[in-house]
Amino acid sequence: MGDTKIEWVEKVWNPVTGCQKISPGCKNCYAAVYAHRFWNWKKFINDSYNGRKNQVNVRPFTEVQCHPDRLDHPAKWKRPRTIFVCSMGDLFHEDVPFHFIDDVFDVMAKNDQHIYLILTKRVDQLANYLSYDQKWNKELWPHVWFGASIENQHAWDDRALVLKNLPFLNRFVSIEPLIDPVDMAFGHDTDIGSWLHWVIAGGETGYGSRPMHPSWIKSLKTQCMDEVIPFFFKGWGNWIPDSGYEDKSGETRVVWNDQYPHVGGQLMVRVSKKKAGFLIDGKEWSQFPIARFKWAGFRHEYNLIGKHTNLETPDGVYVKKTPPVKIPILKCLDKNTKRRSA
Ligand code: SF4
Repeated sequence: MGDTKIEWVEKVWNPVTGCQKISPGCKNCYAAVYAHRFWNWKKFINDSYNGRKNQVNVRPFTEVQCHPDRLDHPAKWKRPRTIFVCSMGDLFHEDVPFHFIDDVFDVMAKNDQHIYLILTKRVDQLANYLSYDQKWNKELWPHVWFGASIENQHAWDDRALVLKNLPFLNRFVSIEPLIDPVDMAFGHDTDIGSWLHWVIAGGETGYGSRPMHPSWIKSLKTQCMDEVIPFFFKGWGNWIPDSGYEDKSGETRVVWNDQYPHVGGQLMVRVSKKKAGFLIDGKEWSQFPIARFKWAGFRHEYNLIGKHTNLETPDGVYVKKTPPVKIPILKCLDKNTKRRSA
């Protein structure tokens, strides 16, 4: 129940499923493709088994469903886990009633041995929910991380700015699929590290996936290093720079960096996700923030001196000079365990 191949969490929990596409990043939505393949497949099997047609309550992905019967899942996981909330939908979709979101937050409050990561493209609705919930107190949610899903500069400007101004202890962004360059500073924000605590990024996979110019991901990595923000590179997706890749038999495409035309076009080759891999200039970037969570009645705290102190990078250890605010940060998973065992 809830197991996942997603590299940056241990479990998924889907009290809400279904969604509709709202921006270019949704074009090849993984959840929609998955639902199309497997939800319909389940229906076929069940129908065959029952010998009846249309007896199974399987609905299209575009129909948002709340699942009260799944609210007990986190309580069943006794050991602390990192949990991705709503990997098959968007908890803050406009069709999800606020009273059901209340129920989801009640479960997270009662099961605070876990760390929850909530990712949404609908940050405005998230803001609406907070203003509806007058009792919102960020101090009560050290184990919940709020993230915006972003794919290009336009989405960054729209969603990250909202996320920045919401009263959370823990914020992250998932910049995946990265389909255009992103300047996280909005051109002028000089202290992103004070409000953003984790960046996950990667290319696109699946049918119709779009290539990612290497300069886009390298720039993001550099921005994170400059601001001492943990950076997790999920991988290239289905397209890898042709340089250094010997098998040129796959489809090729040239990608341009419109933001920095002098960088030039980059020939990309379409390969499998596994072949494309997750190295940037030969290095793996799998950084996690560090954790604070409660387990067996004790609060386990890691590195509470400051969120960025002792942030490990492949190049060594960064120590922020100015004392950062005390902030609970995410569990540091055993680095790359999942990737190595995959
Ligand atoms: S918001 Fe997320 S879940 Fe919804 S369609 Fe877009 S990518 Fe898919």
